[in-house]
Amino acid sequence: MIPGLQPIPLTELKVLSSPKVWQIKGGLDSFSCFTPVTGKVIAEHQGGILLLKGTLSTIIFLECDRCLKEYKQKLECNCEELILIKDSSISPSNEVKNRIPPEDFMDSLTPQESFDPERWIFEQLSLQIPLLKVCSETCKIPASLVSNTNSKYSQSSSDLNVSYDPRWAQLKKLL
Ligand SMILES: [Zn+2]
Repeated sequence: MIPGLQPIPLTELKVLSSPKVWQIKGGLDSFSCFTPVTGKVIAEHQGGILLLKGTLSTIIFLECDRCLKEYKQKLECNCEELILIKDSSISPSNEVKNRIPPEDFMDSLTPQESFDPERWIFEQLSLQIPLLKVCSETCKIPASLVSNTNSKYSQSSSDLNVSYDPRWAQLKKLL
């Protein structure tokens, strides 16, 4: 939970004279964070749309898909999103309709709903997590997981890695 990031009703955002800015510093419950999430989020109510901008940075722990060890992954994003505010009683202004095709909106809210900045931060950072999580370019599947015929090759290649990457020496001590 990041302090000061409670959901804010759109009605409240609408009456602000300037965009709402959150300075972000804190951990997210949904991630195992090595460093807190830092940055800022800006929300601007523009009538028919909510304009969101964020610059976010953190380092989280992930499990490597190859060696299954935990490693640190830096996540950074400079993101922008438009959320459609669907008010069935008022049709969106022509200006908004002409500027942005409806398919460009990933999400929509009704005017009575709230914007949850913490959930938005989680979504933006989740999009930055690589599909293939690998602790390093030289990571190999551990010899213990490779069949016997390949083990000799795996052993020598992991010895090679030690000379390139000092982190392997640290990992080897744990084996
Ligand atoms: Zn790995």
